[in-house]
Amino acid sequence: MRAADLLHPRPEGLYCPPGDFFIDPVRPVNRALITHGHSDHARSGHRSVLATRQTLDIMGLRYGEDFAGATQAARFGETIALDGVSVSFHPAGHVLGSAQIAVEHQGMCIVASGDYKRRKDATCAPFEPIQCDVFITEATFGLPVFRHPPDTEEIARLLKSAAQFPERSHLVGAYALGKAQRVMRLLRDAGHDRPIYIHGALARLSEYYQGQGIDLGTLEPATVEGGGRDFAGAIVVGPPSAFADRWARRFPDPISCFASGWMRIRQRAKQGGVELPLIISDHADWDELTATIKETGAEEIWVTHGREEALVRWCELEGIAARPMHLVGYEDEGD
Ligand SMILES: [Zn+2]
Repeated sequence: MRAADLLHPRPEGLYCPPGDFFIDPVRPVNRALITHGHSDHARSGHRSVLATRQTLDIMGLRYGEDFAGATQAARFGETIALDGVSVSFHPAGHVLGSAQIAVEHQGMCIVASGDYKRRKDATCAPFEPIQCDVFITEATFGLPVFRHPPDTEEIARLLKSAAQFPERSHLVGAYALGKAQRVMRLLRDAGHDRPIYIHGALARLSEYYQGQGIDLGTLEPATVEGGGRDFAGAIVVGPPSAFADRWARRFPDPISCFASGWMRIRQRAKQGGVELPLIISDHADWDELTATIKETGAEEIWVTHGREEALVRWCELEGIAARPMHLVGYEDEGD
């Protein structure tokens, strides 16, 4: 069987004709397999959704319990037959519940990895390399210039700044699913034991993480109305979008921070008015991408959402067949 007969792009998303399903479709379909809960991958309105329990829970929190006609939870490593095609979910290390999806039929195995990273992250299961014939990789940070520093160093810079300016508040922009909880957990692991103040948009997801056994310590709402609370010296976490609006102006002399892989680009931090850029990414950097491609043993690589060309070129130089696969509709919400 040719790989392209097992999976190929359609306007709705990556389609498997023999199994009649889509992976991370961007439009409503009959049968959707979903890698993780970021809104560009997990959309509502499908007739049926197969995903990990945690991804289904996260979709329920974001869209309401009726986000799909029917749902089925996949356990990591379990093989599920869909019209004769075998599918299995494996940890992707991206956010809580995130999975790579292996699709196998007539001796051909393709792994669609969704978004992934290789760094240690206490808030989700670590990525597991899966041997396959074709590996579909993201390329969000697919340029050699992208090499993420250790996340512990970035958090240490934040804590150092907080200690240096005890009268000011530190506002940390971090995406609501995954990044925010990872930042909070990193703060705890670095010994920060004061309450962390969170924007309302993070409350339900953070509570869900805590319920799944990921200890984020004491979280308190970052609201000032009626409370008259003094946020001097506080670390406040909120979605990046909130920092542009009035919400951010209530804090005393705030220092604006943003946790993102894009903070590697100084210009981008400056334009966004970020005073303390924190390079913390939930996507693989260049070294992680290239190491992972080799570990899968795949003979062919399909490169999607990001900087496809550089990674395709790297594969060719390594003697690995590769091609860009232009899937539309993914906007890296998570980074
Ligand atoms: Zn993502």
